Amino acid sequence: MKTLFYIAVCLLAGVSAQCQISTTLKSVSEEQLIRTKLNSLTDTSMHGRGYVKNGKENAADYIQARFRELKMRGVTKDGSYAQSYYFPVNTFPGKMKLALNGEDLVPGQDFIIEPASISYSGKYLKVVPIDLKQVVDTAGWVELANSFVNDNVYYFDDIETVCKNLNIREDVFPYILPHGCYIIKRSEKLTWTVKMDTCRATIFYVRESALPKKWKTADVAVENDYHPKEKNQNIIGIIPGRIRDTFLAITSHYDHLGMMGAGTVFPGASDNASGTAFMLYLASYFSTHPQKYSLMFIAFSGEEVELIGSRYFSKHPVAPLKSIKFLTNIDIMGDATNGITVVNATEFPAEFAELQKINTANKYLNTIKSRGKAANSDHYYLTEAGVPGFFMYSNGGKGFYHDVYDRASEVTLNQVDNVAKLIIDFLKGYNM
Ligand SMILES: [Zn+2]
Repeated sequence: MKTLFYIAVCLLAGVSAQCQISTTLKSVSEEQLIRTKLNSLTDTSMHGRGYVKNGKENAADYIQARFRELKMRGVTKDGSYAQSYYFPVNTFPGKMKLALNGEDLVPGQDFIIEPASISYSGKYLKVVPIDLKQVVDTAGWVELANSFVNDNVYYFDDIETVCKNLNIREDVFPYILPHGCYIIKRSEKLTWTVKMDTCRATIFYVRESALPKKWKTADVAVENDYHPKEKNQNIIGIIPGRIRDTFLAITSHYDHLGMMGAGTVFPGASDNASGTAFMLYLASYFSTHPQKYSLMFIAFSGEEVELIGSRYFSKHPVAPLKSIKFLTNIDIMGDATNGITVVNATEFPAEFAELQKINTANKYLNTIKSRGKAANSDHYYLTEAGVPGFFMYSNGGKGFYHDVYDRASEVTLNQVDNVAKLIIDFLKGYNM
């Protein structure tokens, strides 16, 4: 707070040279340093760090600019930080309208679109409720699906039963729908995602309380834009150590879901602007505290699309995977009020014991939970490829996840400075 006040005074007074020097001499807390980066990564110019309006490119540029500032070493022949690769992705850059009985629903709050949906538009469409409980087998489903008319919108209140009856997973359901428009009731929280493919239908998942009592009409306008070969970039920078060709890796994905239509952003503050800001903070720390081993910082892309960026890296590493002594992956580091969880703790018990020892001695966090293997973030394909490592995530916060409420203002960064201290001490242990 004091520093902020001081800067404000400097600005009001006109920034004199002396004023600038003394400002930089003031020590800035870890939390403030992480907060600044978190705010930048969730800025409106980042468009949710996804696949419309150059969101992920702007985020990649921001990370590379930080790496450059820290004079980190690049990994390509021309010394750049970017490792490019491609995958297909379905995007929604334009219209995203659903009105029921003439009342507009709010995208992101009242509904989300099935991410494999295609374009569709129509006005005053008749909504036909379907009782899927009556569909007891595949033959029954085929008969029902054949009766669908393209200009109607079909409403399903219970796809769980039909998936059970047809013996399919619920995430397969969009792909068995014929071309047309559908509304599916969602009783639980709306959680969006990104997909690499499209289905034949346009499907809205609507919050139960946003549904009308009586069905009349629907106005629909959705525009998808399928990119068969979207360029993506992993951003990789090195802080050389005394032993140059052996690495400790610190990784964190910077991509998020981007936008659902031209007006709805998924900021991804907790997931994973927080982890990326945290990683950038560690990079700035280690740039002035070089270690015995080189430090490799990787900002992965494509995590939200089946961990594709880290999977690509595991097959095309910039240094032999054997030269990575240990990897620390950070995904969701917004609030560690209830400590952190360590995935792979049971796989690497000696390292986990060391982490616990440091934490107990310094009283950094109230708990460090142990977890086994899990394919839930970017460590996964690297662990599978033989790189020892942990995935750490924080426990706390309001639980906003893959929704429009995951904003920077909701991220407290409670205790996150202590997680930083813990990881710094842990990595410094490799100096011995
Ligand atoms: Zn994530």
